[in-house]
This record gives sequence, structure tokens and C-alpha cells, in this order.
Amino acid sequence: LTVLGLESSCDDTAAAVVRQCTGARAEILSSVVHGQTELHSAYGGVVPEIAARAHAEKLDICVKQALTQAEVGLRDLDAIAVTAGPGLIGGVMSGVMCAKGLSAATGLPLIGVNHLAGHALTPRLTDGIAFPYLMLLVSGGHCQYLIAHGPEHFTRLGGTIDDAPGEAFDKTARLLGLPQPGGPSVEAEACTGDPKRFRFPRPLLDRPECDLSFSGLKTALMRMRDQIVAEKGGLTRQDRADLCAGFQQAIVDTLAEKTRRAIALYLEASPSETVIAVAGGVAANTAIRAALETVSAEMGARFTAPPMALCTDNAAMIAYAGIERFRTGVRDGLDLMARPRWPLDQTSPSMLGGGK
Ligand code: ATP
Ligand code: FE
Repeated sequence: LTVLGLESSCDDTAAAVVRQCTGARAEILSSVVHGQTELHSAYGGVVPEIAARAHAEKLDICVKQALTQAEVGLRDLDAIAVTAGPGLIGGVMSGVMCAKGLSAATGLPLIGVNHLAGHALTPRLTDGIAFPYLMLLVSGGHCQYLIAHGPEHFTRLGGTIDDAPGEAFDKTARLLGLPQPGGPSVEAEACTGDPKRFRFPRPLLDRPECDLSFSGLKTALMRMRDQIVAEKGGLTRQDRADLCAGFQQAIVDTLAEKTRRAIALYLEASPSETVIAVAGGVAANTAIRAALETVSAEMGARFTAPPMALCTDNAAMIAYAGIERFRTGVRDGLDLMARPRWPLDQTSPSMLGGGK
């Protein structure tokens, strides 16, 4: 099976070709990503209207590049997979319209993919992990522990009750005048900082379940920053690095402890070999990966994390999720709808529309 995937749900326009022969590992033949960071940099965050226009302009270029790099033509494909949600609706619609056009022109089947399923199935694409496995999906808009039972079947063990960690990294960068996306810039600053100088809260750690909360971090950061400014008139490089290090350490500690609980919960339900996988943009953070790896080893679970380029948004994960859906017999029609919200534990195929 050779599938073209399209992704345009946030601020990356992407196209990729992934091939899987029966029983074999999937192979990424090409993966093209056009980021939009410069377009949004003046605004301190992603502007939906600007994102949608840029996707509409770049999608066909990405598709051409993905086909050329993969050395395949449209006639070599078996299906077109596209992110149908969740995400910024203008961007998702651009991708869905482009995919519908390709499908209508070629007669190739169209497959709507849940963007979060793309992230959550990445460990199968990269490491051939078998179902079921435990998953920490940690990204710009999400943070949840899931059990992946099948390509269409996920159950949720817990998750954030407010902000996602990626969002917290982005807000921290904004508050400290660092460039977006915040994750990489805060991580770089944290490398030279002292994580013990500022003590950030670790909410919900006293609670036994694996729910998390991150919104208190930005309030704490703002208070600390304002106090330094009031005392010294401004932030030094070292102040900034120490704030980043303290902030990142709070996220690392919280994710490590909650992951320990999620593994324990999962072990109760399925005591066989336990695999815990992490995916999503925040999984690109080296300190977080290292902490999760340590906890997994302590709990006797196997840990896997995708290569950095497949943590953040890309279309290879969408093409692969498309292959998995295709194999379950799913085909979407030209009435496929773009969904702004689409919880992963409601992945059932074509009853698109509205969402919750
Ligand atoms: P979602 O997948 O929830 O819809 P999204 O697609 O916008 O959201 P991703 O592309 O998966 O999110 O991840 C982007 C997020 O990952 C951003 O918030 C970014 O700051 C964060 N991120 C990227 N690299 C790192 C890093 N090294 N450390 C921490 N966070 C990071
Ligand atoms: Fe994403």
C-alpha cells in the first residue's frame, strides 16, 4: 500500500508518501514540512486566518515535492489520507479540500485521519510496536495517557485538566521574550540554567490518579519574573536561564511521576509486556524523554520515543494512520467534513460533523 498524507491542522503544511507491503515495516518514502514560524512571529502566536491562507498556498507545492522525492506518481498511490481534525478549522479545511480535489481527479479513495491518531500511531510507524500499548501524547494542544488497542480504538486513563505542556512552553517563551515555538527556545535556555533557584508548583501530584495541570506554571513564572524586574529593573541572561530551567524541571517531574502512575494502572489491567510510547511535539524535549525513560526502566516497561522530526507535526504520521485505517476497511467519501474538535477516544470513522 502506498499512501499520500496531507497535514495542515496548525502551522505546518506537510505532505508525505508512506509505503507498507504486507507484513513489512512501513517505509517513509518522503516527508515534506513547510513551517510558518516567520509568518506568525510578529504576533506571538499562530494567527488562524494567516495559517489557513498559507496552507492553501503551500499544499500543492508540498504534494508535488513529496511525490517527486518519493519518486512516485499519483497513479502509484492506493489512497489519499488527510488530517480531518482536530485543529484550526481553516487549515484543516484547506487540507481536506486539497485531498478531495486529488481524490475526485484520480478516483483514489479518500481517508480522513484524526491528527491525534497520527501522533498516537507514530510508535508503530517508527518501531513496529504491537497493540496494545500505553501512550503519553504530549503536544501543543494535548496531554493525555491513552491505551492504544487498535488504530481506531483508544481509551483514556487521564490527562491535563487545563493547559497542555506545549502551550505552557510557548507561553513561557512569550513571557520571557524568547522566540516561538517556545519548546525548543525554553529548552535551549534551560541547558545553562539552575533548576533549583526557582521553585515552580507541581499541581495534582498529591492526587493518586494520572490527571495533570499546567496552568499554574505561567502564573508562577509571571510572579517570579515581575519580582526580579521590581528588584533589579530587568532580567539578566542568567535569570532567564534559571527561570526556564525551573519551569522545565517542574514539567519533567510532573510528567515523570504521572507516567509512573499510568504505568502502574496499565500493569493492573494488562500484566504482559508493557510498552510505553511518547509522541507529540513536547516529546522532542531531551530532558522529558530522559526522565520518562528512567521511570519506564524502574517500572520494568519498555520505552519508545519517535525521532525528533516525527514528534512535531508531519504528514508521514498522517499517511501511516491512513494506511492503518485503510486496512480496517474504512473509506471516506467526498462528504468528509473538517472537524475543529475530535477526541481520540471517539475515533469512530465516518460519523463526522459537529464533534465535541
Ligand atoms: P496538537 O498535536 O495537540 O494538535 P500541535 O499539532 O500544535 O498540537 P505539535 O506540533 O505536536 O502540536 O507540537 C508543537 C508543540 O511542541 C509546541 O507547543 C512546541 O513548543 C512544543 N515543542 C516542540 N519542541 C519542543 C521541545 N524541544 N521541548 C518542549 N516542547 C517542544
Ligand atoms: Fe500535533
